[in-house]
Amino acid sequence: MPGDRRDNTTLAPYATREADSAGRRAPEPPHPYRAAYQRDRDRIIHCAAFRRLSHKTQVFTGGLGDYHRTRLTHTLEVVSIARTIARVLRLNEDLVEALALAHDIGHPPFGHAGEELLDERLSGLGGFNHNRQALRILERLEKRYPDRPGLNLSAEVLDGQRSRAEKPTRAAQTGGEPSVGRSPSLEAQVVDAADRIAYDTHDADDALELGLLSLEELAETPLWNEAVDSVQGRHASLDETDLRRAAVHTLVTRLVDDLVDSAQRRIEQTGVTSASEVLAAAPIAAPSGEIVEKQSSLERLLFTRVYRHPLVLKHRSEATQALGGMFELLLPEADRLPAVYREIAEEESPGRAVADYLGGLTDRAVLEGRVQPFDRSHTT
Ligand code: MG
Repeated sequence: MPGDRRDNTTLAPYATREADSAGRRAPEPPHPYRAAYQRDRDRIIHCAAFRRLSHKTQVFTGGLGDYHRTRLTHTLEVVSIARTIARVLRLNEDLVEALALAHDIGHPPFGHAGEELLDERLSGLGGFNHNRQALRILERLEKRYPDRPGLNLSAEVLDGQRSRAEKPTRAAQTGGEPSVGRSPSLEAQVVDAADRIAYDTHDADDALELGLLSLEELAETPLWNEAVDSVQGRHASLDETDLRRAAVHTLVTRLVDDLVDSAQRRIEQTGVTSASEVLAAAPIAAPSGEIVEKQSSLERLLFTRVYRHPLVLKHRSEATQALGGMFELLLPEADRLPAVYREIAEEESPGRAVADYLGGLTDRAVLEGRVQPFDRSHTT
């Protein structure tokens, strides 16, 4: 495989190189002018599961207005942050982008509430997890080629997503206990860190806009407090909205700066000189110890005051009731689902087939009760 011609001139020694790729499960000739990970990124953007992210919940359901992030806009923020970090560290940006675009593609309707419901319905059948579901979508459920299932992505994209699915804890993100066994590629580590930076900052912003949280409450957390101080040091008198907006991007910058510094320090300390050495080393793209503490404090506040806010819980319970109702309705009808799901019903279980089918629906389709077992669009 010739590989991306830019690899040897722009990438750091520890970056993932296309020339070293384990390739695709079904081998394909190289494209005349698109690099392999670039094609992976394109395949993800063009798949149906990716488009449906625009109508899926991140944290707040559509019933709460239209300011807040959807799963799609969250994903684009992760891409943006991850690419910034990847460029400074001279990592493979095409791979980072593909991984970031795919990272939440397995989320069912209604975010974690939908995931918990499907997981409970599949207890005893292997459960349901959005990171594992992303792999099912990429490797099997999306049908883009007449002669093979899935998107036939490069091994490194699937490996990166697999590392998310297999991660037992957040240790790699928080700089806690180094994981036993292989670390993910540095590109995959950066996407994990960028995901966390994106949701910590945008969930605070969304919660403020929705009035679920006040600036005073947020200022109890050191990270937010420092961001507000820094903004007020530059701008004497700002109204609450301007202050909030400036504080959000100040906070994103602070977290990205810290991540880059901390990763560069670890790269020096571990002395990694190749992508394979990264896999054998402790996690590199993790925040500094100081930020780990402060980020956890912000996350605790978001957890108790936002993710468990009565209004959020109310919308969630309505949503999961609708999803649960659909599950019961379809379970005895799994043999009437589109072909790809009928196969799953036979090869695995009717419950798995229904969860795969429902997981692919948007929030809107569930709330409107659009069960269309004969609609072939769900397989394309
Ligand atoms: Mg995410």
